[in-house]
Amino acid sequence: MAFIASAQYSEESVDVLLRLIAVLSGEDAVKVVKVLLNEKEVSDEVLAEKTGMRLNQVRRILYDLLDKHIVTYRREASERGGYHLYIWSLNGEGLRRMVKERKGHVLNRLRERLLYEQQNMFFVCPNGCNGRVTFDKAMDHQFKCSKCGAILQSFDNSKIIEKLRLRIESLEKDP
Ligand SMILES: [Zn+2]
Repeated sequence: MAFIASAQYSEESVDVLLRLIAVLSGEDAVKVVKVLLNEKEVSDEVLAEKTGMRLNQVRRILYDLLDKHIVTYRREASERGGYHLYIWSLNGEGLRRMVKERKGHVLNRLRERLLYEQQNMFFVCPNGCNGRVTFDKAMDHQFKCSKCGAILQSFDNSKIIEKLRLRIESLEKDP
């Protein structure tokens, strides 16, 4: 199944995908996947050419990506006969599953973070000494800065909450 980035995935999905591949297989694998995103079907020789990597290196990356269900291949008899060409493409099904799983994790983390922001009150020092402290922490210090002793001010986190909400919303909308 062809994996057409622009048609099936938002920029955000492609971004998630590439970051994930960087973590799983390294930056060189990202180069290979970027070519595959544009070309749909490519032989390993062309991949080596386009990425500027050695053929051996490209093949090692491809087998690693194959193992992780990120790419797939088909064999084609060479026109000159005698050997086979390996034509590589992205594994649409495997990628969709991978991106979905990853997004699930990201969404869970964002929802937890949102809950934390909604359920807590925060305080800051007017002189900008430390970061934010929660209500409990502030109370422990009689609402005074632990560094300079200034009276803490309440911190408005509504912008953070709004940002988190929007990010969650956009991830939920994305297929
Ligand atoms: Zn202070």
